[in-house]
Amino acid sequence: MTADLQITNAHLPDRDGLWNLVLSQGTIAAIAPAASKPSPDPSPTLDASGDLLIPGLVDGHIHLDKALLLDRHPARLGTFAEAMAETLRLKQGFTVDDIQARARRVLERAIGFGITAMRSHVEVDPTAGLRSLEALLPLREEYRWGLTLQLAVFAQEGITQQPDTLSLLRQAMALGGDVIGSAPYVDADPKANVRHIFDIAQEYDCDVDFHLDFLDDDEPLLLPFVIAETQRRGWQGRVCLGHMTKLAGLPPAELVDLAAALRDTQISILALPASDIYMMARQDTHNQRRGVAPVHRLAEQGVNVGVATNNILNLFTPFGDGDLLKICTLLAQVLQLGTTISHQRCLAMATTQAACAIGIVDYGLEVGDRADLVLLNASSVSEAVGAAPVQRTVIKAGRVVAQTRLDQQMFAPGE
Ligand SMILES: [Zn+2]
Repeated sequence: MTADLQITNAHLPDRDGLWNLVLSQGTIAAIAPAASKPSPDPSPTLDASGDLLIPGLVDGHIHLDKALLLDRHPARLGTFAEAMAETLRLKQGFTVDDIQARARRVLERAIGFGITAMRSHVEVDPTAGLRSLEALLPLREEYRWGLTLQLAVFAQEGITQQPDTLSLLRQAMALGGDVIGSAPYVDADPKANVRHIFDIAQEYDCDVDFHLDFLDDDEPLLLPFVIAETQRRGWQGRVCLGHMTKLAGLPPAELVDLAAALRDTQISILALPASDIYMMARQDTHNQRRGVAPVHRLAEQGVNVGVATNNILNLFTPFGDGDLLKICTLLAQVLQLGTTISHQRCLAMATTQAACAIGIVDYGLEVGDRADLVLLNASSVSEAVGAAPVQRTVIKAGRVVAQTRLDQQMFAPGE
């Protein structure tokens, strides 16, 4: 067996001691204790020197086409209404070149951070037309060496009140969209919106991704309807839901009942804490609620859950650099996750479970899994989640694709 790469002396998230790995033909071919005899294979070797090797980070929910807009329109009110209205206005001026320039900056940073797979929502509506998709389709190919990019065709502005949207969504799927989705909460008829999306999913045999049960108004949850449609269409294991902030307000018994239905339908939930903690509970005058989906509670009930970035430096989320590991730190802080086991769950939410949420299989740290990996300058999962270390070596399909080193100098007095 000729290896692509051997990694020696690595800590692994769920095994004690140090380990050597052999990567071959884009997969993990062998894992053995570091004390065992090294392979005589002359293939390149990366000495981890005790650093932590994790599965590549998977950002299952991001918006490449509206990233990095803050310098064009800084927040004046900082409200959700302003974000919707002003982003729609900015969208009128988007060109293919402009979208690509911003997306490239995010994608290249993402590869450096160790994100080896990503699902980007791509706005398709009468204002955006098909520009975002035309911009991002070539980048999906261009950056394949560094990350697997899925494009989720996305109706951000509603469907039923803008009937032209439906034909545009179908054109986008025919052009090569991977996934179909929408934000039913902005639609005058949210249930019709959900049905339209499932209709398209069935026509194109693709997975579904909704921005769902976002906002903190008194409207009832749409989740039971989405669960019922998932069953009715036979789409179990093919539905991913982002935000789900309203779940944070449910009494525990109601959450347990919904968790059982989510588990049965294999629907995945992605928390988007950077956006949600910023936008939710604005009406609270003091002791503000957090408004982040309780993914830790859902995980205890066997639901597949993850954490993702959502927006970077725009009116919906005027923060962030696209480093999913930092979002993992934020999630642990917001949900008060301090134990070793909860840190391991957080890391899984940003890696293996996020991969599962967006339909990527054979993802993890077992023999036969994809050789999409990140070596972090940390010796434990708690250190990785707690500190999001800067120094990383990123491996995609068995090949080193990025390396970040910290160049720091100290100037103590008198030297
Ligand atoms: Zn989103």
